[in-house]
Amino acid sequence: MAESTPTPLANRILVGLLVGAVLGAATLLIGGMFPALLEAARAFAVKVLDPFGQVFLRMLFFVVMPLVFGSLAAGVVQLGDLSRLGPLAGATFALFFANMSIAVALGMVMMNILRPGDAIEAETKSRLVQEYGGAAAKHIERQAQQPDMSLQVIVDMFMPRNLVGAIAGTDRGALGEVLPLILFAILLGAAAIGLDDTRRKSVQSGLETLTELMTGIVHFALRLAPYAVPAMIYSVVVKIGWDIFVALGVFVLGCLAVMVLHVFGTMSVWLKLFTRYSPLDFWRRIRPVLVTAFSTSSSNATLPTALAAAREDLGIRPSTAGFVLPLGTTMNMAGTALYEGCVVLFVAQVFGVDLTFAQQATLLLLAVLGAVAVAGVPGGSLPIIAGLLITFGIPPEGIGIILGVDRLLDMSRTVVNVGADIVTAAVVDNLDVDQKTV
Ligand code: ASP
Repeated sequence: MAESTPTPLANRILVGLLVGAVLGAATLLIGGMFPALLEAARAFAVKVLDPFGQVFLRMLFFVVMPLVFGSLAAGVVQLGDLSRLGPLAGATFALFFANMSIAVALGMVMMNILRPGDAIEAETKSRLVQEYGGAAAKHIERQAQQPDMSLQVIVDMFMPRNLVGAIAGTDRGALGEVLPLILFAILLGAAAIGLDDTRRKSVQSGLETLTELMTGIVHFALRLAPYAVPAMIYSVVVKIGWDIFVALGVFVLGCLAVMVLHVFGTMSVWLKLFTRYSPLDFWRRIRPVLVTAFSTSSSNATLPTALAAAREDLGIRPSTAGFVLPLGTTMNMAGTALYEGCVVLFVAQVFGVDLTFAQQATLLLLAVLGAVAVAGVPGGSLPIIAGLLITFGIPPEGIGIILGVDRLLDMSRTVVNVGADIVTAAVVDNLDVDQKTV
């Protein structure tokens, strides 16, 4: 395990986060008295701060695809023996499933106890639906464009006809698809295992060099983080404002509490039981990763930082980190699964739809499956949530009720998604399945 060195950069990023939040809150307070000032601050956020934040974000996005490819393929080659791929993948998927199921269950228990939807007044409901109805329609439309789950759809998701087109994002929408790249990287790594020693080693060192180069770019981006993070946080705070919090206070606080409970509670128990790390030390070491997840709201954008931290700050074997983290980024979304369950129950409560125990059990399973399909980008889960609402006979426009606070909860659920991925990598690293790899 690497020595614990509280890096000054990690502290500076954290301070940046606080500065952004405090300045944002101050602007809201003063803006309450001088609305023109708040308007000016919002315009400044949109015109100046957001593009600046995007420089940081895009630099991370630049490296995602080559990094997923390089680290995953290198991880598989490093296994050295194809028969070890099965147990490694088996353990990884079992942990993903356990993690997401526990998260959704916690969220659903909270929603059944607090029942925040019952407290929303009819007047607030119609105001929110009116205000965010347009944005809701966009997500419902995107949901409608997604084909119903069938075997063919699953095959298409992993094996599109045009691999390069899918990765480049020309196939479906503007975002590149990560799942086909994951499968291709695993196949390439597996094929490389069959090469003779000399060529296998040169493939491995080529892939490792690619990964290191991408990690180098991540370090450049992280140098921007102490400035980009406050800019992004300030922008979110001034744009969201207080009102919406007050309207949805119990729901927001309930979700935040359960997310914190899952990531720092359940996951700390996993660390304690299944790894050699002390939970406190673990969370301290990956602070910059959590802050990156929080400020970017994107698991994909956070993957490069997560990979670097897993190897450099936690001493997780590159083969394990390279295998678990890219997979986890796309499939293991505990925060998202938890949130999907909570939103469906919340909107059902607001509209007076009662879901039976059996329906809620189905919801748990669908929320987990839905989270696997969610893209690791800001707001990635919204179309899936619209789909879940339709499945349970709840008006999908209801998603408009939570859209105003979605950004804050998106930031938080991304922290849970990413935090749980790194914990899973640590657990898998500690299991026997990968013991012989160095
Ligand atoms: N923003 C989330 C992530 O990237 C996905 C979502 O739940 O919307 O992990």
